[in-house]
Amino acid sequence: PDVAELDARISVCRACPRLVEWRETVATQGRRASFADQPYWGRPGPGFGEPQAEVLVVGLAPAANGTNRTGRMFTGDRSGDWLYAALHRAGYASQPQSWASGDGLLLHGIRIIAAVRCAPPANKPTTVEKVACAHWLDRDLELAAPGLRSMLALGSIAWDATLGSARRLGWEVPRPKPRFGHAAEAILTTAGGRAVRLVGSYHVSQQNTFTGKLTEAMLDAAIARLRLAP
Ligand code: SF4
Repeated sequence: PDVAELDARISVCRACPRLVEWRETVATQGRRASFADQPYWGRPGPGFGEPQAEVLVVGLAPAANGTNRTGRMFTGDRSGDWLYAALHRAGYASQPQSWASGDGLLLHGIRIIAAVRCAPPANKPTTVEKVACAHWLDRDLELAAPGLRSMLALGSIAWDATLGSARRLGWEVPRPKPRFGHAAEAILTTAGGRAVRLVGSYHVSQQNTFTGKLTEAMLDAAIARLRLAP
């Protein structure tokens, strides 16, 4: 499939019973009071950005009242405020905010996806759910591979999922397995022989940004690495 078809298929996936129930329960009964008058997406989050992007950003999973509400990656929550402000500073996003799918935001040269596409309770997907969703990530990496230059993994789950997809696709991955850390890097080689820089960053979750574990300068520095030649 092409990217549009892939996104359409992802958005109707029902492979994980626990997550299907959670995403739909939040959407129908568990809405945050401030969003009570809004329709919720309540489905898996498709990718967002340019179809043939040089850069992939891999998040963990949609937030219950963020992507699961708006239907767009990192849209309508605090994590997204951080991520899009940084992408705007780096020239990848047309505006620093992302509050709704019709807000006019455009991304340049970048596509945002996630290791798991449905909002998990407590932001914690199970191992079985991570495995179930991995094939969607495989397809995203496969479609991006011919023009891919770099990838940003937000958090260790995204880092591990990305390396797992790369291996399944027959890409060369350094051994021993590169360890996740903020600003960790690894050079992967696609099945077509293209070098791709994988950069790690602490996730833009409130847990990290409120506590100062991840600062704007740290995030900017990780994003700046994406433009370097692999
Ligand atoms: Fe499908 Fe992934 Fe959602 Fe599971 S988490 S239902 S595999 S889209």
